[in-house]
Amino acid sequence: MRCTPFLSARRAHLLALALAGLLAAGAAGAGELRIVDRPIPFGERRRALTLEYLRQHVDPTASDIALDPRAVVIHWTASPTLPSVLAAFTPDELPPGRPELRRGGRVNVSAHFAVDRDGTVYRLVPETWTARHTIGLNRVAIGIENVGGPAWPLTDAQLAADARLVRDLVARHPGIRMLLGHREYGRLRGTPLWEERDPGYFTGKEDPGAKFMERLRREVADLELERP
Ligand SMILES: [Zn+2]
Repeated sequence: MRCTPFLSARRAHLLALALAGLLAAGAAGAGELRIVDRPIPFGERRRALTLEYLRQHVDPTASDIALDPRAVVIHWTASPTLPSVLAAFTPDELPPGRPELRRGGRVNVSAHFAVDRDGTVYRLVPETWTARHTIGLNRVAIGIENVGGPAWPLTDAQLAADARLVRDLVARHPGIRMLLGHREYGRLRGTPLWEERDPGYFTGKEDPGAKFMERLRREVADLELERP
């Protein structure tokens, strides 16, 4: 046989080159969105509390917590780590320390997605269920939380991930035509998207910062989404 150790080594070398090529091709596609499912507890009790919230704030005859995705709201968590966010969203009911929100209903706040500081995207709540994240828009808006805040400026990795996620959501839910930062939500009062029966129920917001929001809009400008 001519199958000498030299040839075997050469063949192994060629195989290694081919594998390296495949890995390089994979790296070039690293900009693609990957969603990690990390559901928060959203059992029967939380769904019942969400329905209670919808009946109080949106529609007294509501019979389910279905979300009709027509907008995406971008947030920051005002906390530094993903575990702190997950811990805050885990209880079914609001903690007693937030009386201004407590008046608005018992169900705890949450959002559909959390984007960690390295750009990893976690899905916390099914995209077709209402989550309590933005007064007036909860039944029509998918919420994206970015881990960070004024003391922990949002990262370029989060900007890129948010852009990919918005692009993906718009592709899968063609009803989404509006992109806004939580800080802008009040501008939608009086428009068809706004659903809040209590005109006095409103809290001022700054997230996710004006600069981050404008950068994100530039990233997805080709989608031609509306702004408030
Ligand atoms: Zn917010």
